[in-house]
Amino acid sequence: KTENLRKPEWLKIKLNTNENYTNLKKMMREKQLHTVCEEAKCPNIHECWAIRRTATFMILGSICTRACRFCAVTTGVPTELDWREPERVADSVVQMNLKHVVITAVARDDLKDGGAGVFAETVRAIRRKSPFTSIEVLPSDMGGIYENLKTLMDARPDILNHNIETVRRLSDQVRARAKYERSLEFLRRAKEMHPDIPTKSSIMIGLGEEKEEIIEAMDDLRANQVNILTIGQYLQPSKKHLSVVKYWTPAEFNELKEIALSKGFDHCESGPLVRSSYHADEQVNPEKIQ
Ligand code: SF4
Ligand code: SF4
Repeated sequence: KTENLRKPEWLKIKLNTNENYTNLKKMMREKQLHTVCEEAKCPNIHECWAIRRTATFMILGSICTRACRFCAVTTGVPTELDWREPERVADSVVQMNLKHVVITAVARDDLKDGGAGVFAETVRAIRRKSPFTSIEVLPSDMGGIYENLKTLMDARPDILNHNIETVRRLSDQVRARAKYERSLEFLRRAKEMHPDIPTKSSIMIGLGEEKEEIIEAMDDLRANQVNILTIGQYLQPSKKHLSVVKYWTPAEFNELKEIALSKGFDHCESGPLVRSSYHADEQVNPEKIQ
């Protein structure tokens, strides 16, 4: 029975926080900003914010029009689009002295442009205010409308990240509206638009997939010229979400990393606590930063 699966030792990490962290949290509230780091109670928050100087902002509000079965973000009617948000995010990037920032967003299926306009403006605002911070964007498929992707790519982020999240067979069960094939096409098109911008994708494992299926996902990503891969353990955010079927061991994660590198990915982060944005600062080619 999956509910009885005990969390292994390697996942029991104490959230390490300090005064600096409390101040940053306060700043987020004041600026009405949301970070995945806080909302997903990410265990890496101290390492990322204080040591590596990286953070993941979630823009376009905090309410998503989709309801993926692994995700803790609230579903419902989204808030009105806020065109001042890009400047506030950029100011926080400066204040936090970030070396690398990841900008993700809820899926805005209610908007024709899928939020691409504000997204692109956020990239430009960060560039203006903090030119040495590398910028990674992590959009949804933005309705599968490639004009929206183009709006975002033309703002020239340093990395375009779009997650397939899981293997082909489980995709429809795990994700809401997003499609495995459409995500692959999204990644391919991004690369066609700006071949010099690295593309990246992530999978969570532990949802019942087989090793062969993970390898198939790697092949699918490489067939669409994806450069960077992250693999992490799925953790159930609440009882309403999908149960964990398996805790993959650190040794298995290492083996997957070796396989990924042999498939031609330039970079692969693979480990129980790896999140899409984990160690993302190491994945940027310094020459590519404008
Ligand atoms: Fe934030 Fe990602 Fe770091 Fe977690 S791994 S603290 S979500 S930047
Ligand atoms: Fe969560 Fe993204 Fe799915 Fe929305 S689209 S529910 S934010 S994973």
